[in-house]
Amino acid sequence: MRVGDLVLNLFFPPVCVSCKEILPYTETAALCPLCRTRYEKEKSFHCPECHMPHPECNCAPKGLSRRTSQTIHLVEYVKEESASHDMIVYAKDHLYEYLFRFLASELYAVLAERLGELSEYLFTYVPRSREKSAARGVDQSKEVAKRLAKMADADFGSLLIHRDTVEQKHLSAEERKQNTKRSYDLREKSKDCIRGRHIIVYDDVITTGATLLACVSLLKQAGAADVTVLTFGKTYRGDQRSKTPIV
Ligand SMILES: [Zn+2]
Ligand SMILES: [Zn+2]
Repeated sequence: MRVGDLVLNLFFPPVCVSCKEILPYTETAALCPLCRTRYEKEKSFHCPECHMPHPECNCAPKGLSRRTSQTIHLVEYVKEESASHDMIVYAKDHLYEYLFRFLASELYAVLAERLGELSEYLFTYVPRSREKSAARGVDQSKEVAKRLAKMADADFGSLLIHRDTVEQKHLSAEERKQNTKRSYDLREKSKDCIRGRHIIVYDDVITTGATLLACVSLLKQAGAADVTVLTFGKTYRGDQRSKTPIV
């Protein structure tokens, strides 16, 4: 355990981000042993579309699959009680180092398994709106992507910007589509470093895929050789939920 972590833990005791139980000050985990077991079980659930365990699934919403080389996620994102849901939600509001280290290491293991050597990739992320980042004090996807690039000994760049457009929840489906497209753009400075690169773009959750499609399209237009989409969670329709593995 790092000395810095130990000192920090004395003043700010580590907590389990799922059940909020205070952990021993010598701990550097984001989950208590019980919640960690729940998370491991969630990871072993099977995708209802391809019937593979989630970390091996390559299912993507229509439109996105044609534009990406792989679409990778770790768990199904469910709003009901689940350790995965609690981690994603906690990361939106807390710059909690143990949690970001944990999320990045989990994603790194799956990426390495699926893509092999990662040092030639350029890592980026779907940015949060400036308004939200300022209000919550953290851009969770940036924190994860940054740590992933470091683990992979690869390049990292804030390639995309999020314009502060209208809140999605008050819009119709068609308005949402148009609003999503308008919400993202390439950062002026990043345009020259995208051409010919293999890019991994990270977001915390994939739902309709519209946000990721907008971002992937921008990266491809700027000349990216290929784009891999990586998310921690994936949502499925209510009638199409994950099944526990058949053993
Ligand atoms: Zn717990
Ligand atoms: Zn699948």
